[in-house]
Amino acid sequence: MSRYDILIVGAGHAGAQAAIALRQNKFEGSIAIVGDEPEIPYERPPLSKDYLSGDKPFERILIRPATFWSEREVAMLTGKRVLSVDPAAHTVTTGDGATIGYGKLIWAAGGSPRSLICSGHDLAGVHAIRTRADVDRLMGELAATSRVVVIGGGYIGLEAAAVLTKLGKHVTVLEAFDRVLARVAGEPLSRFYEAEHRAHGVDVRLGAKVECIEEKDGRAIGVRLADGEVLPCEMVIVGIGIIPSVQPLLSAGAEGGNGVRVDAQCRTSLPDIFAIGDCALHANGFADGAEIRLESVQNANDMANAVARTLTGTPAEYHAVPWFWSNQYDLKLQTVGLSIAHDAAVLRGDPASRSFSLIYLKQGRVIALDCVNLVRDYVQGRALVVEGKSPDPARLADTEVPLKEL
Ligand SMILES: Cc1cc2nc3c(=O)[nH]c(=O)nc-3n(C[C@H](O)[C@H](O)[C@H](O)COP(=O)(O)OP(=O)(O)OC[C@H]3O[C@@H](n4cnc5c(N)ncnc54)[C@H](O)[C@@H]3O)c2cc1C
Repeated sequence: MSRYDILIVGAGHAGAQAAIALRQNKFEGSIAIVGDEPEIPYERPPLSKDYLSGDKPFERILIRPATFWSEREVAMLTGKRVLSVDPAAHTVTTGDGATIGYGKLIWAAGGSPRSLICSGHDLAGVHAIRTRADVDRLMGELAATSRVVVIGGGYIGLEAAAVLTKLGKHVTVLEAFDRVLARVAGEPLSRFYEAEHRAHGVDVRLGAKVECIEEKDGRAIGVRLADGEVLPCEMVIVGIGIIPSVQPLLSAGAEGGNGVRVDAQCRTSLPDIFAIGDCALHANGFADGAEIRLESVQNANDMANAVARTLTGTPAEYHAVPWFWSNQYDLKLQTVGLSIAHDAAVLRGDPASRSFSLIYLKQGRVIALDCVNLVRDYVQGRALVVEGKSPDPARLADTEVPLKEL
């Protein structure tokens, strides 16, 4: 049986950064990353952006080149899925029947795409966008595709819609809510993106209920809506969120449900087991302590950095301002803070100019900003969120007043 001082499960953003930070913090023990994908860690955001469009080859989205891992003596155990964890024995077992021992375990397994539950959900031509393999499969079918139905008007669905429209496909976006980005953004931002997609030729359907996916010879040929309409297509992309990959930990007795619960140092309730990234359910200081999971590169990296510090003798708590970005067409959205619990929003600038910010307040305090093509507001507004400032809303709305003066 092989054994590592630190075993990291998941070769994604969080797992890779944990190993990088451990070595940066002079950890000298043995480290292995076990991941079920065949690749060494790569960036996931380009999968719905410039990797999907063909503008960036796979080599350019690797988090580090292969030599980096061997030089730093991080063993890459790719193509192996951890099926169970034995916290008492400090071992995990993998799908190929191997047992691997650990001193500390860092669970960084992310999540898998939620799939539709209607008939036709597993037909050929129905795709998710989570892994390189997903996107390669999808890209392999593009030449024979002229019509795409995207189910889910969240960031990933909208980014894919933007890329595929640019590639000349006819795209329909189906969103169950009455606006796109309903879970993550305020209404003015939703309406702005809806209008942008429509202007680019995307057929955006709001309040759309999918009944099933129609098939011919095992392939998707259309999406049937609850009102009976059928949208013919050659490809369906499903972007309706993820299910955190935590079952082996929960089965081993870890607390959690929608993710595995961690404390301020990203420790699970099991001894010597930490969890980080998309799968970690944590009390977030930028959400007034509400227990949430964040799905962002920032969260993955900052949690990894905190655990690496703790494991190298400088106990660190995870308390980092959330940020995120999304690229659609020529629009660069940057968000800082968490808008979930806002009770007011201030529009700063005119959306018609395609460069504006939406600033979210809770009881007068700035809790988040969404900045479209406006790096300056994003950079300066960050301090308002971090310091919990309560500026006069009229001044927030005034584009003549730089945010740094507030
Ligand atoms: C298409 C797309 C676009 C995105 N765009 C953005 C963006 O613009 N900005 C942003 O901030 N974030 C974006 N994200 C989110 C961001 O990529 C994630 O938050 C980030 O990847 C989370 O890192 P992670 O390490 O927690 O999980 P992941 O990167 O998902 O890595 C987890 C890894 O663990 C593996 N795994 C799971 N279970 C097991 C097991 N039992 N055994 C072994 N291995 C296992 C998984 O296959 C995966 O390789 C995007 C995500 C996607 C999919």
